[in-house]
Amino acid sequence: MTLRITGGRVYDPANGVDGEVRDVCLRDGKVVDDVPDHATRIDARGRVVMPGGVDIHAHIAGPKVNAARRLAPEEHRGDVQDRTAIMRSGTGGTVPSTFVTGYRYALLGYTTVVEAATPPLAARHVLSELRDTPMIDALFLLLMGNNVALFDLIRRDPARVRDAVAWWLQSTGGYGVKLVNPGGVEQWKHGNGNVTSLDDDVAGVTPRQVLDAITGAVHALGLPHPVHVHCNNLGVAGNWRTTMDTLRTLEGRRAHLAHLQFHAYGGRPGGRPRSKAPEIAEYLGAHPELSADVGQVMFGPATTMTADAPVSAVLRDITNGKWVNADTEVETGCGIVPFTYKEKNYVHALQWGIGLELFLLSRDPWRTVLSTDHPNGGSFLSYPRLIRLLMDRDFRNDQLRRANTKAIRSTVLLDDLDREYTLGEIAIITRAGPARLLGLEHKGHLGAGADADVTIYDEREDREEMFATPRYVIKGGRVVVRDGELVEALAGDLLRVDVPHDPDVEDVLRERFDEHYTVRFENYPVREPWLLEPARQVAARPL
Ligand SMILES: [Zn+2]
Repeated sequence: MTLRITGGRVYDPANGVDGEVRDVCLRDGKVVDDVPDHATRIDARGRVVMPGGVDIHAHIAGPKVNAARRLAPEEHRGDVQDRTAIMRSGTGGTVPSTFVTGYRYALLGYTTVVEAATPPLAARHVLSELRDTPMIDALFLLLMGNNVALFDLIRRDPARVRDAVAWWLQSTGGYGVKLVNPGGVEQWKHGNGNVTSLDDDVAGVTPRQVLDAITGAVHALGLPHPVHVHCNNLGVAGNWRTTMDTLRTLEGRRAHLAHLQFHAYGGRPGGRPRSKAPEIAEYLGAHPELSADVGQVMFGPATTMTADAPVSAVLRDITNGKWVNADTEVETGCGIVPFTYKEKNYVHALQWGIGLELFLLSRDPWRTVLSTDHPNGGSFLSYPRLIRLLMDRDFRNDQLRRANTKAIRSTVLLDDLDREYTLGEIAIITRAGPARLLGLEHKGHLGAGADADVTIYDEREDREEMFATPRYVIKGGRVVVRDGELVEALAGDLLRVDVPHDPDVEDVLRERFDEHYTVRFENYPVREPWLLEPARQVAARPL
């Protein structure tokens, strides 16, 4: 399979290419420097060529996603994908079925997606669903911030934490480590409320010790992606202090902050939140070891789904509607609440505004990348609208006028914040940046040797239309979208980390399993058929 994409304006920021007209050549699933004259051609004149999109934080597979699907049958009735010669049937809405998730990501020009929160016990389920999600390469992050067996190790045998983390990743097919409200979920499960400070005692450890020990382990193991942190006190007024305390605890080690918008609130707990986006953006800008995805809120329907069960309990009380809270025994909790963000609501408009502030005040697009925490802040299908908000000042000002006035006035959005993102910057925050932060060297760029994942957009003034309907999408060198239509359905790869551990740690963990888990240690590791090909491993580089 050889392909030459001719005459397009190419945005490949990882290789310093910013809108130059040039050809992109593909052969056998990879980008190459040149192909023979007889190669198939795609005419990209008047079009924009970028690497395939990379979503660094979304929720697309596993038990909580399935529970959310069951919770919203009305969404399914309103958005049916019929079976076609190419596509299998399914449903859409804010939590699409597996097949539809894959099709719609591809139709949006995305080719790689991170499932951001997998309980290790649910790894088989997540792997099965990701295998059923076509079109995209996928990887998942493993939840470790409320694991009681790990807490035991942190308390009694901290030197073993590093090997334990490696064992967990290797035993599940995970790619990286996610901490969600470290300690807080476990405390809440015992009826003791959420943690309020990083020094609260939770089963003999503190959130600060959990953060420190696991960040240290991830750092020492040299995982391709640093620890991925969902800070404590999500959504609570005044939580920016916890966020700053968390950042100080990380102490110069690399870390990625998930959906930073939800953690950038001033004010007093229980009172009206304020924006602390300028302070947080300033701190992030000054610390090159830190990165974040924004977790932008978009007005309209969403489904909140999180391992942060105490947050769901609060949302359940606010919305007074359908909800789920569930326990994953030793490892984590989970909660789901369908939600609608309204532009006239003070808090919702403030959240929307804080997300935009974080984008517009960002000093380094490589380290503040795009997400809506799909489907928490809104569906991934709203990315094109978000891109227009960032690129089109007039459109943004029009939307600002429609949102709750008090909320918008409390942000700096009306203070001459007239920045407009360029196409090059959009290419950074939607593909090159996320790929680099994930340590995916073959993704997010168009240099020789990269995976042949390419998206071609018609150049249009309306950036929302432009990014909503790419003209061509090429996955692994095959044209999967042509003229805005899906023309081939194919399976993506599963990406997992390869990280060795000292086998002695297994004896230590076996004891912990006997003490805490209902699952026997021998039955816990994921084996075939869940780990069958296609799977690709990315090597850790231990210090
Ligand atoms: Zn999330």
